Amino acid sequence: MAESKTVHSPLVTYASMLSLLTLCPPFVILLWYTMVHADGSLFQTWEYLRQNGLQGFIDIWPRPTAIAWKIIACYAAFEAALQLLLPGRRVEGPISPAGNRPVYKANGMAAYFVTLTTYLGLWWFGIFNPTIVYDHLGEIFSALIFGSLVFCVLLHIKGHLAPSSTDSGSSGNVIIDFYWGMELYPRIGKNFDIKVFTNCRFGMMSWAVLAVTYSIKQYELNGRVADSMLVNTILMLVYVTKFFWWEAGYWNTMDIAHDRAGFYICWGCLVWVPSIYTSPGMYLVNHPINLGTQLALFILVAGILCIYINYDCDRQRQEFRRTNGKCLVWGRAPSKIVASYTTTSGETKTSLLLTSGWWGLSRHFHYVPEISAAFFWTVPALFNHFLPYFYVVFLTILLLDRAKRDDDRCRSKYGKHWKLYCQKVPYRVIPGIY
Ligand code: NDP
Repeated sequence: MAESKTVHSPLVTYASMLSLLTLCPPFVILLWYTMVHADGSLFQTWEYLRQNGLQGFIDIWPRPTAIAWKIIACYAAFEAALQLLLPGRRVEGPISPAGNRPVYKANGMAAYFVTLTTYLGLWWFGIFNPTIVYDHLGEIFSALIFGSLVFCVLLHIKGHLAPSSTDSGSSGNVIIDFYWGMELYPRIGKNFDIKVFTNCRFGMMSWAVLAVTYSIKQYELNGRVADSMLVNTILMLVYVTKFFWWEAGYWNTMDIAHDRAGFYICWGCLVWVPSIYTSPGMYLVNHPINLGTQLALFILVAGILCIYINYDCDRQRQEFRRTNGKCLVWGRAPSKIVASYTTTSGETKTSLLLTSGWWGLSRHFHYVPEISAAFFWTVPALFNHFLPYFYVVFLTILLLDRAKRDDDRCRSKYGKHWKLYCQKVPYRVIPGIY
């Protein structure tokens, strides 16, 4: 069974699944419409819907067009080719619940560099204008919504007919299988990892590509890029650069090592990341706010600091695990708990839990700088509208839920050792508060 199936009750699973399936697609379209056509004002969109009802909503839902499909297909094929062809060192992932150790090729940073230089090069040499992407954004999101749903159905069928490893299987409930996924490491052939593609090379990469697109669109509209847009774009690019710099580390996290490839994670990365995660930049295209050099620099530095702390938390945990605890944490030998657990195949293994450094402040301290960084790349939008802050609010809810899911999973994995960790480090996310 996928671990995710055990951490929420069936009722919560059904409720969250139904709301994701029914509410998220229209929300993506409404968010795009509000940002691009309603001045970022929820009130304006609400008034439109009040006056025009369901038909009005159907009218604003863009139909996926040929150009939208073409843009998505070219981008996906380009990213898939980079993932397969670019050289990279061999990296072993963590031991899976069934005792397997997946192998990856770490070429994310190269793919990121090639993607951005190609995109900017196409623009610079007049071969492809990124503003076309912005001008067809609604159609692209619409195509992604439907295309990704079909993709998830295919993943489900693959999980039944041709699983790639023993880390797969059915819970006996088709809806839960579809939602949480059947395979942990689905692959095409031996080397093409589907989750690396959906989460990293399609989802995270689209974040950087769209951030650049929004800046270019504002430049086309106004002949300059406002300092608010600059701060937003630079912070998002620093964040995504950090992600690809550390991509092999990401393969040790919950998304890859614990969550199976189903609707929850794959649809989220294929649709929700390009639309919702990039939304503060989408808002700024039509709101060229001037912050002034001092304020802009202050926000920029604060945001970079948060991204750095978030990176350092992840780095510290991974360095600690990689060296088997034989490293320095904040200049000292780390304090730790040796935690044993049993894999699904019955083998007994041990893991080390770090209880000093960032991981001694709270059990999920890394979420604090993650949320703060998102706040800092949103705050250049100032406070005229709420919608740009939707991502920060969503991220806060997501990460608080994730902290609970992870705690529950670790408690059932490590038993008394996790209890001991909770005694040593009593706070879940915010030291002294929660
Ligand atoms: P991690 O996977 O990095 O950390 C949780 C795992 O680490 C646990 O499942 C456990 O795994 C292990 N662990 C827990 N406590 C300790 C400890 N004290 N010492 C050593 N190992 C420990 O968490 P996430 O995947 O949630 O986060 C990874 C990064 O991704 C973060 O930077 C986060 O902010 C970011 N993120 C961003 C999101 C976004 O949408 N923007 C969403 C989610 C995450 P094991 O079974 O190996 O013991």
